[in-house]
Order: sequence, then structure tokens, then C-alpha cells
Amino acid sequence: MGRAFVYVILGGGVAAGYAALEFTRRGVFHGELCIISEEPVPPYERPALSKGYLLPEAPARLPSFHTCVGASEERLTQKWYKEHGIELVLGTHIKSADVKRKTLLTAAGETISYKILIIATGARSLKLEEFGVTGSNAENVCYLRDLADADRLVNVMQSCASGNAVVIGGGYVGMECAASLVINKINVTMVFPEAHCMARLFTPKIASYYEDYFNSKGVKFIKGTIMSYFDMDSNGKVTAVNLRDGSQLPVDMVVVGIGIRPNTSLFEGQLTLERGGIKVNGLMQTSNSSVYAIGDVAAFPVKLFGETRRLEHVDSARKSARHVVAAIMEPNKTDDFDYLPFFYSRVFTLCWQFYGDNAGEVVHFGDYSGSTIGAYWISKGHLVGSFLEGGSKEDFEAIAKATRLKLAIDDLTELERQGLGFALAV
Ligand code: FAD
Ligand code: NDP
Repeated sequence: MGRAFVYVILGGGVAAGYAALEFTRRGVFHGELCIISEEPVPPYERPALSKGYLLPEAPARLPSFHTCVGASEERLTQKWYKEHGIELVLGTHIKSADVKRKTLLTAAGETISYKILIIATGARSLKLEEFGVTGSNAENVCYLRDLADADRLVNVMQSCASGNAVVIGGGYVGMECAASLVINKINVTMVFPEAHCMARLFTPKIASYYEDYFNSKGVKFIKGTIMSYFDMDSNGKVTAVNLRDGSQLPVDMVVVGIGIRPNTSLFEGQLTLERGGIKVNGLMQTSNSSVYAIGDVAAFPVKLFGETRRLEHVDSARKSARHVVAAIMEPNKTDDFDYLPFFYSRVFTLCWQFYGDNAGEVVHFGDYSGSTIGAYWISKGHLVGSFLEGGSKEDFEAIAKATRLKLAIDDLTELERQGLGFALAV
């Protein structure tokens, strides 16, 4: 025996929260919708975990950052779900799924059935063990994906005031956590294999702007190498990080941010996968017509680039969530998802935004010794990507618009001369 719903959202993260709000706006009936989540709390804005949550003073705590406050929308608390007749099945791990029978099986043995399933299972942090290093379980080694990880990180941080941290990985988690650790007065060394930070997005010139800023805050960078093993004390605490280049860094704590893997395993062999995620069409529908996927786990067609991508960012989770609900509830009125990729980060007092694709030739603009810097990416004679640090709301809107229009560019020198003015004139 088990429960049955018309709509089930599997996963209770960002995408689930935004989908729930959209369902209520489009008139879901009480008792029709259920959200199942491993986490013990209703959906929240995950980006807060590496920023406000880690502040030493007046840190962000739930319920202040439940979805959908990140998009200046209603804050959906447990009470809100109850009032809207949405069943929240929290603290519940789904251990298997059968898309033919339209059922999910919980770890406790309950079967939950659906007419339509929305997969919003997000992703998990990659572990050092997957790169042949042991020690992830040590009490002073932290990852950061969910609230439990964030609480652990806060505790470890507090237990090593003025101590030394090594941050492994130079991506989003690495950069944002390094900044938060510094704000907590911890000495930080970042270690990553690439020649510069944020290697998948930043050009060397953009990266050196941020590395210089981080240096000025006391962060040290060790680039082009990876860690090989930890030294542990008799209590199983890491005391030093040993690098492949032979050097050794004494530590009080370690933060690891070396990427993620989408949570697809329940559906492998049942649904078509692509780019490590679950392949969907422009209506976010998978290879099974009763099953949809959104957020980090979905590989969807990005119309603007004419190819399938899987994005790991909050704006894409929010917008794909709204889109899937429209597609399910009003299929005849819903066009294919037409999404302009948007990534951003905030560290210290810095704030950057990126729109589009970082493909083709790059034109940098702005004052790289000042506070406003930017770059455009031009591919096949068209603007395909824009980056801006330190702009106003209007500046960010302008680069987004110019990128969305894929404007033709025939003179790169002129584009460089105009800089941000080019986008503002559109
Ligand atoms: P998630 O929010 O990860 O939610 C997935 C949910 O599914 C989780 O609740 C999980 O427990 C649940 N789940 C998975 N498997 C099961 C199962 N078998 N049974 C039950 N439940 C399951 N993006 C930005 O653009 N800007 C930022 O500043 C930013 N900051 C971030 C900071 C941190 C620390 C992290 C980790 C991510 C950040 N991101 C940011 C990325 C952004 O948060 C994600 O893209 C977004 O959360 C994806 O939403 P989602 O709903 O697809 O997945
Ligand atoms: P990222 O993919 O951003 O970065 C991982 C980094 O670790 C890459 O530079 C990667 O290098 C490097 N790396 C890989 N393996 C190793 C290794 N063995 N040793 C050292 N470094 C290694 O992932 P994160 O973990 O930083 O972030 C996790 C998720 O959270 C992502 O989906 C991200 O989008 C999201 N997030 C987003 C934020 C934002 O948008 N502002 C903020 C925080 C998190 P390589 O490229 O060579 O593999």
C-alpha cells in the first residue's frame, strides 16, 4: 500500500520550490501535488549556503531563505505548503523508481505513485575518493551541498578560529568558501590543478583580477597541482595536506569543492541520458512522456546555441521549474524553453554576472586595475557571451539583452573601444 498523487516532484531543492509556486499559480488542486525530499526542511535557496549562511555576524538561517525569496517572490514555509494542499514528504530517500509502473519506492518501503513525475534530484558533491584520495570522512574535512554540510562547515570553522584552511578546487565552491573563510578570520590557501581559478568560465585576464583581489585579502594560491594525501592525527583529524608537487601544508581544516555529479542513478537504464544528466526536450519532457526533469539534473536544448546543455546554476533551476509546470498544465500554450544561460557569484564586496556562452574570441573591456571589468565572447561574427563585474542593475540588464540578441560584431577593436557602452546603446 502507498500514497498516490497526480504530480510528484522528486527532490526538494531550488527547482522543486519554484515549481510548487508555479503549480499554485496555475491552479493545482489540494492533494494533487507531492514533493519528496531527502532533506528535512522545505525547499530553500541553496546559494545562501556558501554566502550569508557562513557569515560570522548575523548569518542567514532558515526560515529566512526558503524559496522563492531569491527571485523576490513569496517565501514558501512549511505552513504555505500545508495551506496550499501540497504534501511535503521530507527526510525521505527514494531508493528506486519504476517509470513503467509510475512508482517510487522510499527507503522505508513505502510506494508512492504518480501520473506525472518531475525529477528535480539535483546533484551530489564529487568526493576526493573518486580521485583516489582517502580521508573525506575526517571530522575537519568539509564539502558543501546541503544544509547539513553547511552546519558542519560552520562548526568546523568556529572550532579553528585564526587557524589554517586549505581549499581544494578553484571553482564556485572553492572561491565562495575561501572568501567566507577569510571573513571568518581563517588563513586560506587554495589548491587546484588548473593554471587559474574558475578555469571553465574565466579567461586568464579575468581570473587574475579575482586572484589579485583574493591575494589582497590574504588568500594564497597553489596552482597546477593537486593533493595526493592527508596526514592524520590519532583522532582521525587531518593535520596536513600533501601535494603532488611534494609540498606540505599544515591545516586545521579542509574545504573540498571539486565539482558535482547529477543524481541520475534512479533512472539509468530507464530514461535517455546526455551530458551526464537526464535528456529532455524543450518542454522538459524526458524519453518517457509521463516523466519530466528540471534543474541541475536536466540536459535540455538551449535554443540560442542550438545544442543540448546541462547547467548547474540557480537561475536555470528556477526558470526550468516554471517552464515545466506551464508545459504540463498548458501544453498547447507552451513553447519550447528558450533560455539565456545566466551565472553569477558574489564574494567579499565583488559581484559578477555572466550571460550566454564563453565560446569563440574574447574582447576584454573596463579598467582591470579598477572596479568595473568586463568581457564579450564573439563566435562566428556574433556576440554569444558577456561578463561584467561591478555593474549597476541597468548595466547587467544591458549585457543580458545584447547577448540575447546575438548582435552581429564585425570590428573587435571597435567593440573593445566601446566596452560596456556597446551593450548600453542597444
Ligand atoms: P538541488 O537544489 O540540489 O535539489 C535537489 C534535491 O533533491 C535535494 O533536496 C536532494 O536532497 C533531493 N534528492 C536527490 N536525490 C534524492 C532521492 N533519491 N530521494 C529524495 N530526495 C532526493 N548557483 C548560482 O547560479 N548562483 C549561486 O550563487 C550559487 N550558489 C551555490 C552555492 C552552493 C553551496 C551550492 C551547493 C550551489 C550553488 N548554486 C548557485 C547552484 C544552485 O544552487 C543549483 O544549481 C540549484 O540548487 C539546482 O537546483 P535543483 O533543484 O536542480 O537541485
Ligand atoms: P566546479 O565545477 O565549479 O569546480 C570544481 C573545480 O575543482 C574545478 O576547477 C575542477 O577542475 C577542480 N577539480 C576537479 N578535480 C579536482 C581535484 N582532484 N583536486 C583539485 N581540484 C579539482 O564545482 P564546485 O565544486 O566548485 O561547485 C559545485 C556546484 O555548485 C557546481 O554545480 C556549481 O555550479 C555550484 N555552485 C555555484 C555557485 C555559483 O553559481 N555562484 C556557487 C557555489 C556552487 P576541472 O575544471 O579541471 O575539473
